[in-house]
Amino acid sequence: MHWETIHKDTAPVVPPRLSDYEGARSAFTWSQARGALAGLPGGGLNMAHEAVDRHAALDHGEKVALSCVARDDSVSTVTYAELARRTARFANVLRSLGVGRGDRVFTLLGRCPELYTTVLGTLKNTSVLCPLFSAFGPDPVEQRLRLGDAQVLVTTAALYRRKVAERRTSVPGLKHVLIVGPGAEGLPDTASFDDLMSAAPDTFTIPPTSPEDMALLHFTSGTTGTPKGAVHVHEAVVAHHATAASALDLRPEDVYWCTADPGWVTGMSYGIIAPLVHGVTLVVDEGDYDARRWYRILGEQRVTVWYTAPTALRMLMRATPREGPYDLPRAFDLSALRFVASVGEPLNPEAVVWGRDVLGLPVHDNWWQTETGCIMIANFAACDIRPGSMGRPLPGVDATVLERGEDGRARVVDGKVTEVESPGVEGELALRTGWPSMFRGYLHDKERYDAAFADGWYLTGDLVRRDGDGWYWFVGRADDVIKSAGHLIGPFEVESALMEHPAVAEAGVIGRPDPVAGNVVKAFVSLRPGVDPTPDLERELLAFGRRKLGPAVAPREIAFDQKLPKTRSGKVMRRVLRARELGLPTGDLSTLEGSE
Ligand code: ATP
Ligand code: MG
Repeated sequence: MHWETIHKDTAPVVPPRLSDYEGARSAFTWSQARGALAGLPGGGLNMAHEAVDRHAALDHGEKVALSCVARDDSVSTVTYAELARRTARFANVLRSLGVGRGDRVFTLLGRCPELYTTVLGTLKNTSVLCPLFSAFGPDPVEQRLRLGDAQVLVTTAALYRRKVAERRTSVPGLKHVLIVGPGAEGLPDTASFDDLMSAAPDTFTIPPTSPEDMALLHFTSGTTGTPKGAVHVHEAVVAHHATAASALDLRPEDVYWCTADPGWVTGMSYGIIAPLVHGVTLVVDEGDYDARRWYRILGEQRVTVWYTAPTALRMLMRATPREGPYDLPRAFDLSALRFVASVGEPLNPEAVVWGRDVLGLPVHDNWWQTETGCIMIANFAACDIRPGSMGRPLPGVDATVLERGEDGRARVVDGKVTEVESPGVEGELALRTGWPSMFRGYLHDKERYDAAFADGWYLTGDLVRRDGDGWYWFVGRADDVIKSAGHLIGPFEVESALMEHPAVAEAGVIGRPDPVAGNVVKAFVSLRPGVDPTPDLERELLAFGRRKLGPAVAPREIAFDQKLPKTRSGKVMRRVLRARELGLPTGDLSTLEGSE
């Protein structure tokens, strides 16, 4: 399978950063990146000061910070000065409730303005914010409130009634539930967010904040097992700021839209903190995915930089195939758009090229994890794209590929690891410890945290190849790769190839145990609208796979499945496909899409 490199040979409207990649890498230091931030007036570092107060204090106060598109399409805006006042009020609310440093404040909210107030007000108060995805059912909500030692929950009356009220006694540490919008009166043991806010003063002096103070608690997506609580500190803002510049090419004049929900790390690091630190105008869409709505928002909001996910791009590809016609995107003026990036799952090469053809811009894949807190490997605005590659390490990021042992993870002998020297050889992706947004712990699980490090490296659990020019290619999660007749097969490669067939919308690939080969590759395939799952199509897809991938890697079995199991952040849960196939217990399903 070969996709041509996409060259950046036309002069872009805004000259991109990092045109000298190697030079930028050797010149970069994290302490310089720290120096680009203001710091608290009395010393120390606080995310919310960098994101809000700093701008409001300068002369950017009247600039629009949030441009909120409500479900009914009406648009309201919040300036940086107003955001500074609102977040000060919320910090005062917390203080008046006796909630202080390190205490945990959870949100269970849609993407409404109050969510942004709560996040940043909590950080101002040096309390810790933990966002929950609002579509979680009662079980995952209760599990996380308990695991995360929640003291405060900010939610709506409807969400509280449906997901928390009956479980309240199971979370005895939860002292305060604040209800956004109407309905608090009818709910015992809750208070009205709005009433508390209007009674609170709109100025607040951020208390001394150490860069190592805990700021955010993020649960991982639960793709490979039970979600883990990753601890992040205020210092992470140094990495948010620097990487939004290098990997997303963000600048103060941008109108920026990140489609990830703030319930996930992308929606927090790059959906709230990083863009506000850069002083951009942030588009906040309260509504759900809808192809027309999304193209309209891109056009009407004059979005310049767009950060989204492969699952969302694949939905758009279904609505607007690369073959055309491009009626839907052409109905809107997308001319402001200058940079598109994606994260969260492997981005199939076709999606990169689809972006170029349909949006007029290729999609820039980048890689990171809840644990890393910021983008680590990326395709950059200034650099050519090799479709299918997740790019190269950011300035300040030292990445490598480690030789694997029997269990498929990096081999550690007497505390030492071995780096893969030859290009093209699979190994575990590892990152030299010490970047500012590295997680500082898995909550209540020191053993697991310690096990994630060896020999000065953080071991990511992902398998990759590095080519001779230093580009990284995702192979699979260590838990997902398939050993078949002596070959190591990454499901992503097989899925990408199948998705190039015009009948296929998405695919999830697993290994099914086989007495002869060890495992055979089995693909679960969802079809584009209007395509019928016939035996002929099955045969055609098997042949298509063999042609593209060769018989050793191609799927031996195809099953049609219009509802592939996915996490709520849109990732295919191969472990669920595998468990279902083998009749095994499916494990933790708290993040399975569609579960309540
Ligand atoms: P869990 O750790 O609970 O199983 P998760 O790993 O999906 O869930 P996240 O931290 O949200 O939780 O996701 C990070 C993972 O997503 C990465 O380790 C990687 O496997 C995958 N990923 C992220 N970006 C990319 C990318 N650009 N290409 C390939 N995979 C990616
Ligand atoms: Mg993970």
